[in-house]
Amino acid sequence: MKVDAIQNGIVIDHITAGLAFRLYNLLGLDNLDCPVAIIKNVNSGKMGKKDIIKIDSKHPINFDVVGFVDPKATINLIKDGVLVEKMSIDMPQKLKNVIKCKNPRCITSVEQEIEHIFELTDKDNKVYRCLYCETKADI
Ligand SMILES: [Zn+2]
Repeated sequence: MKVDAIQNGIVIDHITAGLAFRLYNLLGLDNLDCPVAIIKNVNSGKMGKKDIIKIDSKHPINFDVVGFVDPKATINLIKDGVLVEKMSIDMPQKLKNVIKCKNPRCITSVEQEIEHIFELTDKDNKVYRCLYCETKADI
């Protein structure tokens, strides 16, 4: 894949520099067998440095994860080499089964069957808390 040319896929742009790998991991991109490019520390006029992730596949991604990790990131959908849609993603109110609670006494750590749900409790400070024990999530 030429890094600058995607035919059909998704480009996650304007990622805060340093957050691309976190996004890559939480999106589960290491499980895809399509070409994925992470471009780090690209010079960007208005925001200094940024990261970019390019996924050359129609595989859907979980937009909630993008909003959780970096609501400033934008998602570009590319079809037949043309940008067809540009989206900005708001922080999701609830995040389901993306991260796990780090509290070892939390019911989600003990019971296997329970969904891992975090709720946005402080939007200004990007604070998510476990729905069950209110432990703060690491972003
Ligand atoms: Zn918890």
